[in-house]
Amino acid sequence: MIHIIGGGLAGSEAAWQAAEHGADVTIHEMRPVRPTAVHQTDGLAELVCSNSFRADKVDNAVGLIKEEMRRLGSLVMRCADATRVPAGAALAVDRHAFSRAVSEAVQGHPRIRVSREEITSVPKPEDGWSPVIIATGPLTSDALSKDIQAMVGEEHLSFYDAISPIVLAESLDMSKVFRASRWGRSLRSAAPVAPVEPVEPDEGDYLNCPMTKDEYDAFYAALAAAESATVHDFDKARFFEGCLPIEVMAHRGEGTLRFGPMKPVGLVDPRTGRTPYAVVQLRQDTLAGDHFSLVGFQTQIKWGDQARVLKMIPGLENAEFIRFGMVHRNTYICGPHVLLPTWQTRARADLFFAGQVSGVEGYVESAASGLIAGRNAAALARGEAPQAPPRTTAIGALAYYVSHADPKNYQPTNITHGIMPPLEEIPRDKMKKKLMIAERALADLDLWLGAVAVGGRRL
Ligand SMILES: Cc1cc2nc3c(=O)[nH]c(=O)nc-3n(C[C@H](O)[C@H](O)[C@H](O)COP(=O)(O)OP(=O)(O)OC[C@H]3O[C@@H](n4cnc5c(N)ncnc54)[C@H](O)[C@@H]3O)c2cc1C
Repeated sequence: MIHIIGGGLAGSEAAWQAAEHGADVTIHEMRPVRPTAVHQTDGLAELVCSNSFRADKVDNAVGLIKEEMRRLGSLVMRCADATRVPAGAALAVDRHAFSRAVSEAVQGHPRIRVSREEITSVPKPEDGWSPVIIATGPLTSDALSKDIQAMVGEEHLSFYDAISPIVLAESLDMSKVFRASRWGRSLRSAAPVAPVEPVEPDEGDYLNCPMTKDEYDAFYAALAAAESATVHDFDKARFFEGCLPIEVMAHRGEGTLRFGPMKPVGLVDPRTGRTPYAVVQLRQDTLAGDHFSLVGFQTQIKWGDQARVLKMIPGLENAEFIRFGMVHRNTYICGPHVLLPTWQTRARADLFFAGQVSGVEGYVESAASGLIAGRNAAALARGEAPQAPPRTTAIGALAYYVSHADPKNYQPTNITHGIMPPLEEIPRDKMKKKLMIAERALADLDLWLGAVAVGGRRL
């Protein structure tokens, strides 16, 4: 019996993979017996912030890892594809429908049992639990965090990052907002495996709030002066660079936001025929299209001040906030000290980490690590050797980074081309290069799957 602690993105995917590969599985999920500071339901694989799984084309590393996961039979990808909402070239989902789909699949699997309980210490083989996958996420409960810390030593770190607000669609002033996808790339052109071709501009999937220079300057000044919520341990707070709060970006300089989440490139306001000075983009958050999130607008500004400042955005003057932005804890181990590329711990072959707590960053990356950990735990349970996918695949490169990066100042990572090995011959054309990386990855993944199938039972 494989025991998986945590029924989030990583834990649910790991359970599905292990069960589909012949193992009996128990997921130990503490919600609703013990809630977290951020989850709002007792559903498995709840998306706690954005509803986006990011880019969905193979010219992008996160699009590539998704395609690899589909080829590996990922439950998370199957449910995400089934519940997608319009989001340009990205894969975004209706969060409730998505979590429901994962929960129903996992709970309905004859080999999986879900036990609602908090696990407070790292289970030992002599307790009769082996193999074990720890997939308790960035909000791992305190008791278990302490025990993990005792096990891994000082490498067990924690830091903070912040989430974006969501507004009610009907409260937006649509006379000021225009609908468009950046560069005209919309859901229609987002077929997962097709190479990227230029597409005709169409109505677009995002709502865009355009700003003039004066409006931007006034917004920037208000943001820089806004009062931040006090976070426990704030002095020690370290934010993931890809998820910086807007006010932290604002403090870096007047132009930082305009070259970051408020960049206007690729967007033309149909009423002026010009690219605005700055833009705030809103992305559909539910299938019904009644909620929109502010893209890249994670923040820790106090809620009163937050409403006041955000209502300065054209179109949001009377916005009703479904959820304000906030700060959260993030707990993760130092992967290079603790893990092998199979997601097993170096110290104990039958113990795995997966998901955000293992030192990856992001929904997709968490599920991807769970996918391999689940397959490998099933292999171990059958008496076979766990395998790591080739480094030339995105899913293999992620495992390699987590287990081999420089442990000093280790930072969790999203999947990027930068952590994949370079091509032997690099073409000058950037798009060609990205597509060749994808071709190599998918070919090597297929070869690996074939070899694993010949070497033993198909992993
Ligand atoms: C507030 C917040 C916002 C985020 N926003 C984004 C975003 O917008 N986009 C993105 O890609 N990533 C985001 N992340 C990062 C990360 O991708 C998500 O946290 C993702 O859910 C991680 O998946 P996971 O399976 O590792 O953890 P989770 O999905 O959190 O699952 C872990 C599960 O373990 C359970 N658990 C915890 N401790 C115990 C215990 N002791 N015993 C039993 N069960 C336990 C929890 O209840 C939870 O269900 C965010 C993280 C946080 C905290």
